[in-house]
Amino acid sequence: MTCPACQKAAVSALTGVYDFKCLPCCVRLTMTTYPDKRLAMKQIEAILRFRLAPTRETLMASVSQTWEKRRSAQASITTPVKGGSCER
Ligand SMILES: [Zn+2]
Repeated sequence: MTCPACQKAAVSALTGVYDFKCLPCCVRLTMTTYPDKRLAMKQIEAILRFRLAPTRETLMASVSQTWEKRRSAQASITTPVKGGSCER
């Protein structure tokens, strides 16, 4: 279920081409806002304005899954600070 935009993205990640009817495209577009979750929510709202866009539930589920994956991938690269939570 890959659309032409997805196929382009597979070749070069920065095509800037997104199909709002296509779930992977919507997720890809939302992930460009990473790590700003508030911006991601805005992006999702924008996508949902399209009548043929995936449903909120589907989109939210996919985005949060991808989001967590991205976050845990980065967490394993960046060594966590021991003995304190000075992240905020
Ligand atoms: Zn697509």
